[in-house]
Amino acid sequence: MFERLSSALHNIATRLRGSRLIREDDLTEIVQQVRQSLLDSDVPQQLAEDIIGKLRASVVAQQRIQGVKPAEQIIHALQQQLIDLLGGEPSPLVLKRGDVLMVVGLQGSGKTTTLAKLAYRMKQEHPGWRILMGSLDYYRPAAREQLAQLAGQIQVDYASVSATEPIGAAREISQCYRSNGYDLLLVDTAGRLQTDAALMEELVAVHGICRPTDTILVLDSMIGQASLGVAKEFAKAVPVSGGILTKIDSGARAGIALAFRTSIKQPLLFLGVGELRDDLEPLIPARMVQRLFGEGDLATLAERAQGRIAEQERLQAEKALRSGKMTLNDFAAQLKMMRSLGSMMSMARYLPRELSIQVTPEQMEKGEKEIGMFGAIISSMTPRERLVPALLTSSRKKRVARGAGVSVADVNRLLTAFEELQRYATMMKNFGYSQQKPRVR
Ligand code: GDP
Ligand code: MG
Repeated sequence: MFERLSSALHNIATRLRGSRLIREDDLTEIVQQVRQSLLDSDVPQQLAEDIIGKLRASVVAQQRIQGVKPAEQIIHALQQQLIDLLGGEPSPLVLKRGDVLMVVGLQGSGKTTTLAKLAYRMKQEHPGWRILMGSLDYYRPAAREQLAQLAGQIQVDYASVSATEPIGAAREISQCYRSNGYDLLLVDTAGRLQTDAALMEELVAVHGICRPTDTILVLDSMIGQASLGVAKEFAKAVPVSGGILTKIDSGARAGIALAFRTSIKQPLLFLGVGELRDDLEPLIPARMVQRLFGEGDLATLAERAQGRIAEQERLQAEKALRSGKMTLNDFAAQLKMMRSLGSMMSMARYLPRELSIQVTPEQMEKGEKEIGMFGAIISSMTPRERLVPALLTSSRKKRVARGAGVSVADVNRLLTAFEELQRYATMMKNFGYSQQKPRVR
């Protein structure tokens, strides 16, 4: 994520940490480097100047007397600047029963996809709620069909209407929402390739009819600085209450994320990180800055894992690991969990830079193939072999290999990996015991 800025900031921090004390001249050079990396990442010039102005002031204020500055202090000051820019505290999207949320933005920015992601998220947050989605997109053919399909996939109701234009549709959808006991309405709107008067007029009209409690601007991070102008246009027409930046996974630069709050005076709520329904990450300023400095974001990784792996499965796996009695069945279950987490590549995004750059994409691909293959090998064993792998004589191994379409060497590799895991499980178990033992003799 935000590879360019992240790599620059990580380098700056590493260099700073390499020198114990920073003198005035060094500080000037560092400030220049920070400035350049911000500009390279599409941070608007004025904002970049502000950031480094404040950075300088805060470092100088703290160390006026000594004339030298410890590296950590500078890094901390810069991190704090960036966290403040992103709003300091997280601003989670909190919806209440009876609310109406509307997404606005240009065509192709990701409104429809994002609306479905939001519906999916709200469904998980409020399992008892009845959620309705409706589309006011009469500009692009098949736009409404797209939302109807997504609604079907995530099992949320879709409001079909008889109107043939957005104003009538807005009335019908609102009516349907109010009179059928729904708890939440999510409204999709049409976009254009550029902002124009007709689009804005239409938006103001449908906004007046649906009267959303939250109007969320969806911005494509790939269009760079131009999107800030677009954002301002939308915010002039309708009361935008927050933003969502999409396609962060496609190599976007960090500039708009950093500049959004300053230009729109509203928080950036989520980042879209892919095309799937749970590829929507809440923006948590401190975590984001931690990631920008290459320190990874294991908290978000853990939260994503929790959403994807059933609690039951997770507890089962943990229990097996801690008991020190792992079977190949447990191993197979763990491999399945790993697969449901998504590709290794997508997980690597959350790791500290030092770790993630040690693994090449080729290695990850190989690892992924191996996970799939190991699963296949285990499923071609008999239940008894899975419990007692020692039963696997060379003729049995041949049978298993044939069944899984692999070689005997692959079967052996699986068994070695399993033995390693067992050793690890025994270690965990012993560790667990020594933790629980009273320390007094
Ligand atoms: P709309 O015209 O604003 O409704 O945009 P759509 O929701 O139809 O999205 C346009 C395209 O962008 C679709 O192909 C989406 O799958 C894709 N898209 C949306 N959000 C993301 C994202 O966060 N990451 C990626 N990679 N693609 C996205
Ligand atoms: Mg759309």
